[in-house]
Order: sequence, then structure tokens, then C-alpha cells
Amino acid sequence: MTQAYPHLLKPLDLGFTELKNRVLMGSMHTGLEDRFWNIHKFARYFAERAEGGVGLMVTGGYSPNLVGQLAPLSSTMNNRATALLHRHVTGAVHEAGGKICLQLLHAGRYGYQPLIVSASATKAPISPFKARALSTKGVERQINDFVDAAKLAKFAGYDGVEVMGSEGYFINQFLCERTNKRTDKWGGPYENRMRLPVEIVRRMREAVGPEFIIIYRLSMLDLVEGGQTWDQIVTLGKAIEQAGATIINTGIGWHEARVPTIVTSVPRGGFADVTAKFYGEVDIPICTTNRINTPEKGEDILAAGKADMVSMARPLLADSEFVRKAEQGRADEINTCIACNQACLDHVFQAKRASCLVNPRACHETELVLTVAPVVRRVAVVGAGPAGLAAATTAAKRGHNVTLFEADDKIGGQFNYAKRIPGKEEFYETLRYFQRQIELLEIDLRLNTRVDAQQLTEDGFDDVIIATGVKPRTPNIDGIDHPKVLGYLDVLRHNKPVGQSVAVIGAGGIGFDVSEFLTHDFSHHLEGEQVSVADWQAEWGVNPEFEGPGGLAERKPTSSPRKIYLMQRKSGKVGGGLGKTSGWVHRNSLKHRDVDMLRGCSYERIDDEGLHISIKDKDGKLTESKVLNVDNVIICAGQEPFRALYDQLAGAGVRAHLIGGADVAEELDAKRAIRQGTEVAAGL
Ligand code: FAD
Ligand code: NAP
Ligand code: SF4
Repeated sequence: MTQAYPHLLKPLDLGFTELKNRVLMGSMHTGLEDRFWNIHKFARYFAERAEGGVGLMVTGGYSPNLVGQLAPLSSTMNNRATALLHRHVTGAVHEAGGKICLQLLHAGRYGYQPLIVSASATKAPISPFKARALSTKGVERQINDFVDAAKLAKFAGYDGVEVMGSEGYFINQFLCERTNKRTDKWGGPYENRMRLPVEIVRRMREAVGPEFIIIYRLSMLDLVEGGQTWDQIVTLGKAIEQAGATIINTGIGWHEARVPTIVTSVPRGGFADVTAKFYGEVDIPICTTNRINTPEKGEDILAAGKADMVSMARPLLADSEFVRKAEQGRADEINTCIACNQACLDHVFQAKRASCLVNPRACHETELVLTVAPVVRRVAVVGAGPAGLAAATTAAKRGHNVTLFEADDKIGGQFNYAKRIPGKEEFYETLRYFQRQIELLEIDLRLNTRVDAQQLTEDGFDDVIIATGVKPRTPNIDGIDHPKVLGYLDVLRHNKPVGQSVAVIGAGGIGFDVSEFLTHDFSHHLEGEQVSVADWQAEWGVNPEFEGPGGLAERKPTSSPRKIYLMQRKSGKVGGGLGKTSGWVHRNSLKHRDVDMLRGCSYERIDDEGLHISIKDKDGKLTESKVLNVDNVIICAGQEPFRALYDQLAGAGVRAHLIGGADVAEELDAKRAIRQGTEVAAGL
């Protein structure tokens, strides 16, 4: 049964305990950690993943004290009452045959609250508050609090703790000159700066005894100026081993780094070679991480001897049965994380509970429950975009008899255009997942079938779910019918030729994606293929040997084969509406390929000369009028619902449900489409 992934699924002996395989579910803050009344939801979330067979899980970060909190009232492990509550979590996980560690995370200057402390009085670019410098005694107090928190975790029934030493948090702040300006025994030369993590682990081991897992998350690549050098990182890793850690996990990049580390455009396994370089420096197990989202990738990394374990966080949000499916030879049934961050990290940054774009049940396991249907109904789903696919597969899982109509010759709707964008190749996986579910659930899929109200009424379905999506908006601009005007579907669906200079009207998600598409030279890397790790490192300025402070190098972005102007009417930041954790990557990427981003634009007319625009500043004052002498103007000005069918069916008295873009096109994304499709089908 385990032959497909022999390295990934091989047990790992830690001496005093054994992990059933090499998959670690990495720490992820979900928002369920922060409030005691969510403890049963939190327990169920982990229990489902333990039932899914993962070897070891790590919770989201818990601060050891109040000054280390990420935000006011956020997750903290500092008293026995809290620890007792956590027995619900550890009990549920152990009953399901799993193992779980509590992550101890002191935010330091990354805290979003006024009490924050750090090595020195500094302010992080990602927090509005300036940290207070700790006194020498104050440092001792933080160490004691880490040790006490580990003891409480043990009391709560956890199998161990993970000490968060990376991503630019408190411990990392002590390690680097950029944030540690101290002159006492906790600052100055590296031996002093590394004293804090070593003392934490050493004293923690003394306090918890030998049979308790201590994972240390070692920042192997800081990716910031003034970061650690490779030699320093190796020295620290060895000292951490000596201090008593059980496992060393890899940490990549400070949160303030301007190099993306986990978004979808980072190639799969893009940082495994960092761990590989460290591998062999110590004798305890080493775990690698970042952008590993399939059992194949995990297996390849372990088989190549780059690490002993693989950490996957978001892939376990996307599919709680990831490991079980791999074990049973059903890897093609895995609902793959597409690394979009839209429902997980972006939610956390908006103080909302995390979930998953491709799996809306994530973190809602006790609320979005898929029961067996009490009565089998004949359900028609019209449109096999994300909304229709989610509705059809959910209804079929519950036992309904489902027919799925799709006008196109393939499933996927707009995901078929999204998947063509360089850096969005993961979107193919979602289509693969749904295609496989359609086969397994024996859904009657009718491709090349544009159904109408008459056919649906005559067929006598009990329920008709309308998921017919959207149609692109045509803005009212003088000359909009000029031959140089194209819609985004002309480019991404019909492959119409595009000239050397282009004006893109609309700087939403699609305007950015179309610009990304047009600035790529597909002779360099093929469409549908992820960029190679070496090319990606050059693009973002990562030293291929991970040498030098922070492991940074000069950026060498590829040049665009076209001149692009990307425009919006609003006066705010161009692309301000893009995802919190991914928008900056899109903006930065286009900026480095010389895309001109214009805001406050009025589109006067389009003619043989090009696009005539005027530009106003944020106070509405006209600053410039000009002609962009472009070969093509591409319209990416949002969409409108495509829902005539619903109105006709409702008129004919058919039980019709409206989902996805067909329901509301404004602020539509696949996250809403899939969630709405799942919820409607869960209620049939
Ligand atoms: P659609 O995907 O539009 O699907 C509707 C389907 O219905 C189509 O397949 C159509 O052929 C079919 N249909 C219509 N009428 C009939 C009929 N009468 N009979 C049979 N079939 C019919 N969203 C994100 O969340 N993240 C992203 O990163 C992202 N990137 C994108 C990039 C691009 C380039 C594009 C174009 C979109 C992107 N989106 C993204 C948006 C996302 O794809 C849409 O929000 C989502 O596809 C909407 O899903 P839907 O099912 O409502 O509609
Ligand atoms: P969008 O995000 O709503 O952007 C539409 C753009 O068109 C805006 O820049 C808007 O800006 C402009 N616009 C609107 N009406 C206009 C008009 N009448 N004339 C001229 N310009 C007009 O929509 P989208 O780009 O089509 O994307 C559709 C959905 O897919 C979005 O909700 C998005 O979340 C999702 N998506 C997400 C991603 C992602 O990476 N997360 C990628 C692609 C798509 P002004 O009003 O300022 O001009
Ligand atoms: Fe992965 Fe996106 Fe789901 Fe987050 S929301 S787990 S990144 S698929």
C-alpha cells in the first residue's frame, strides 16, 4: 500500500516515540486559537487531520506571555486554565491516532499591540508600534516564560512544542544585527546574539524531561538585509541540537522580506535546497518546508536525501485526507492547495477565521457538515465553473443524482484562463481534482451542452442550480468598437494576436493577470510549466548558494517583450484591491518588467492614434492629458452576472438556486463561488 511514496510514508523513530510517517502539518494561525469558546471547533479541525493520517501536527502560534502576543487578546499559553482547556484538542487528536505539538511564538516587534518588546527599540515595517528594548533581566523573564509555556503544553497533553525561531519573530530579532543593537551578553558578536534561542531550548529540555518533542524552527534563510550568514546558521543549528532539540524545522524569510516565500508563483519545493545544504550538519531529524503540496514532491525531496521530514501546512487545510489518500494510492483524489492565500493567510491578516478556497469546510468542520441526503433528488447543475463544480460534487457526495451541463468542451469555467497565467499553474490541479470527483461520484457530465429553460423544465429536475457565471463588462468609451480593442477573453481564450505596446483598462485581479501574461516571453519557459527554481531565484534576488547576509543577491528579472500600461480610474494604489499577502508580489513583479501603472485615469476615446486619456490627482485636479500610442487596448473592466436562465426558470415555477458569478458578479472570486456552491448543495 505504501509503495508509491516509500520515503514519505516511512515511520520516523524519535527514540522515545515514533511518528507514523514523515509528514508534518506545519503551524498555521487559523483564528480558532484566539477564543476559548472555539476550542471544540479547534479540536475537530485537528482531529479530522489526525484521522487523515498525518504523522505530526503543529498548532498555530501561542505566545508564552502577554508582551509576546501577536495582537491584543490573541492566543497565549500562560496559565493552567488555558492548558486544561487544550486537553479537548490533545484528547481528540490522540483518540484519532495522531500526535500534536503546540507552537510557542513570541512576536517581538511583529506584535500588533502596544506592549511589544524586542532585542532593541526598533519598529518593524509591518507593525504600527515601536518595540521597547528589554533589560537584561527582561530577557531572562522571556526565557522563563518560554520554559513555563512548554511545561503547560506538556500538562495540556501535547506531545511536544515547536519553538518559533524564524520568520523575523522575537528570537530571529535577537539573532540579526539589523534588529539587535545590544551591548550586553545578549547582543554584539554572534555567540551572544544566538544565546537566547540556545538558552530557551536548553532550559526547556531540562524542565520537560527527555520524552517530549522540542522542534526548533531555525531561520535557514532570512532574506533581509543584515540577516544571518550561512556559517552563523550552521553554528546555531549545532548549538540547538546540543541544547536538546528533537527536530530542526526549516524557516524561510522574515515577514518583512521583499522576496515571496509561499505564494503560488514560488515554484514547488523552491526552498528545499536550503534545507539540503544544512542536512548533515546535525544528527537529529531535519524537516524541510515551503511550497510542497503534493506527495510526489515530498517523496522526491526525501528520496534525494534533502531532509528527513516534509512540512506541509496549507495542503492539509485544503485536504484533511492528504496522507490517507497518498497511502491508499489515491493521490489523484487529493484536493491540492493552489497556494493562493485567499482564504487562509489573507483571512488571518484581516482578523477573520481562516478557511480554504478549494475546501470551505476547513476550520468550519463542525458547521459545514455534509450529511447523507434524507431523500435522493434529481439535481441539474448548469455551468461547470468553480461554483457549479463545487455544487455538483457536494450534492453527489450526499447521494443526490446529479447532471452537470457545460456549454464549453471542458470543465473549469474561468479557471481555464486563470491557469494560463505564468505563476498560476497550480490552478490546473483544481480542475484535475474536480474531474476525478466527477468520475468517482458518477456525475452525468454533459459537455458542449448549452441548456435552456425549456429543456431543464421538460426534464423535470427536482432542483436546478444555476452556475452560469459572468460576462465581461464593456465600458462605455468612445471608440470601444475600434479594431485595436480586445477583451481579456480574446487574449486568454481565443489567442488573438497582441501587439508590442498595450494599454490594459482595469487593474483588478484580471487586469494584473493579463499584464503578467503579456509581459512573459514563452520561449523562455513554456506555458503551463512552473518557472525553474534557478530562474525564480534570479528574478527575486536569492543567492543560489544561500551565502551572504540574509542569502540575498542582485535581482535579474526577465524583460518584457511588450510595453504595457495598466490603468484604473480610482486614485488609490494600483492593485490596492488585490490580496493582502499576494498583491505586493504581483505589483512588484510587473514593476520590475517596466509596466507603467497609471491611476486616476479617464478614458476619453480610442482611435487609430491609440488611447486618449486624462489623469487626475487624488484631489481630482487634472494633471495630464495624453495619447498612449498603443497597438492594442485590452478591456479588463470587471464583469456582470450571466443569469437569464435563472429568471426564465423562476418564471416557470422550477426550484432554481443561483450561485457564483451568476448570482453576484461584484467582488466575485473563486473562494466565494466554491463556498456558495458547497453551501447550497449541503442544504439540498
Ligand atoms: P465561471 O467560472 O464563469 O463558470 C461559468 C460556466 O458556466 C462556464 O464554464 C460557462 O461555459 C458555463 N455556462 C454558462 N451558461 C451556460 C449554459 N446555459 N449551459 C451550460 N453551461 C453554461 N478567482 C480567484 O479567486 N483567484 C484567482 O486567482 C483568480 N484568477 C483569475 C484569473 C483570470 C485570468 C480570470 C479570468 C479569473 C480569475 N479568477 C480568480 C476568477 C474566478 O475564476 C471566478 O470568480 C470563478 O471562475 C467564478 O466561478 P463561476 O462558477 O461562478 O463562473
Ligand atoms: P475587479 O477586481 O472588480 O476589477 C475591475 C477593474 O475594472 C477595476 O480596476 C476597476 O477599477 C475597473 N472598472 C470597473 N468598471 C469599469 C468601467 N466601467 N470602465 C473602466 N474600468 C472599470 O474585477 P476583475 O479584475 O475582472 O476580476 C474579477 C474577479 O476575479 C475579482 O473579484 C477578483 O477577485 C478575481 N480575481 C482574483 C485574482 C487574484 O489574484 N486573487 C486574480 C484574478 C481575478 P476602476 O473602477 O478604478 O477603474
Ligand atoms: Fe491553499 Fe488557497 Fe486553500 Fe490557502 S486558501 S490552503 S493557499 S488553496
